[in-house]
Amino acid sequence: MSQVYRNAMKQLREAAELIQLDKHSIEILENPKNTVEFNIPVNMDNGDIKLFRGYRAQHNDARGPYKGGIRFHQNVDIDEVRSLAFWMSMKTAVVDIPYGGAKGGITVDPKKLSTKEKEKIARGYVRGIKDNIGPDRDIPAPDVNTTPQIMAWMMDEYSQLSGKHEPASFTGKPVEVGGMGDREPATGQGGAYVLDEYVKNQKPQKKEYTIAIQGFGNVGRFFAEVIHYMGAPYKIVAVSDSSGAIYNKDGFDIPFVISHKQETGSVKNYKDSKNISEDELFALDVAVLVPAALENSITSERAKKVNAGTILELANGPVAAEAEVILLKNKVDIIPDILANAGGVTVSYFEWIRGRSGDQWDSSFTQDKLKSILVKSFNDISDIQKEYKTDMRKAAYILAISRIARAMELRGYEN
Ligand code: NAD
Repeated sequence: MSQVYRNAMKQLREAAELIQLDKHSIEILENPKNTVEFNIPVNMDNGDIKLFRGYRAQHNDARGPYKGGIRFHQNVDIDEVRSLAFWMSMKTAVVDIPYGGAKGGITVDPKKLSTKEKEKIARGYVRGIKDNIGPDRDIPAPDVNTTPQIMAWMMDEYSQLSGKHEPASFTGKPVEVGGMGDREPATGQGGAYVLDEYVKNQKPQKKEYTIAIQGFGNVGRFFAEVIHYMGAPYKIVAVSDSSGAIYNKDGFDIPFVISHKQETGSVKNYKDSKNISEDELFALDVAVLVPAALENSITSERAKKVNAGTILELANGPVAAEAEVILLKNKVDIIPDILANAGGVTVSYFEWIRGRSGDQWDSSFTQDKLKSILVKSFNDISDIQKEYKTDMRKAAYILAISRIARAMELRGYEN
């Protein structure tokens, strides 16, 4: 069992113990309901036929159809996909949208693929999984290294196989084919709403909240942009991507950092900044540390050096289990992933509603709805935190597993 999966199970058991959840519900939640593994043969640009491994784990659908992203990454395996599917069930339950949890992936390094090869892999993935997905069964979305364009190919393949237009079969699509403009920035935007609500509830409030962000992809970059435009009391003093990290104690003008990354391919060597190492970024004396890259970025070694008072988990599972023990002992508040990064799946839910109804939503309506869902979830978690005198992650898990367990009880356990 991988470290990521052990983390996920530890989080489940700790919360289950606090509410004395029954044994059979725990056992059901410890295991995905269904996992699918298959090979995708692809005719590569150089004429070779190459096999790629595809996965989908469907964790729990007591509260509604499965929902979760698909990632393209060289380290994807069934264990990773299982953990991520589990977290999706928790996430959809925390924000109380009518879904279960799933996750998929393909073991591939997308940097080594041409656009044509990516399209063939995306379409091959859908052919491999077509009988297990669909608007009422399991609705995939983007994740690491998958884009709106990839969702457009996947939705098209699924629609062709179904013989009819199926806009609600995938979310995170480009706007021209039924996507929502608000979906791409939604995870970062949601993280900003959650952080802002946390800050408003802090007593006493600081005059300034300095922020360091690890990861400058979809999630990290949009979060940085939204926070930048929110302005005071926030100031982003460090950002990183896989090539390195940069620091400026006076804060960054984020749109210029985005242009620099677009021009050079990395955040490194940005003017008026100091290049620092990733370890140095995690040890900065900032108010808020925002891991927005991959799982287990904060190891116990790094946790011992964390100076931030708060961690906002925008990546899934960025804090290793042993690291969390150290951080909690050092009184670091961890705003958990299943709340902090739930903005993406929430806007995906809006896109799915639109795809099914043909309705049109404007951006201000979407943003108001997103904010109210996240603020309500934050406050539900705070109430549980007070009731059980526990940390924010356990409170979020209590909220999620109580909702799922109740749905299983009402429906019966045997389906
Ligand atoms: P992405 O591929 O767009 O970006 C990942 C970023 O992390 C890139 O900037 C990359 O350079 C950086 N990175 C990778 N390794 C790094 C390292 N060692 N140090 C610093 N930076 C590093 O992926 P994304 O969609 O932004 O997803 C990031 C995380 O957020 C993942 O954990 C994902 O599961 C989670 N997440 C994403 C969404 C979404 O809507 N995209 C929703 C919920 C959760």
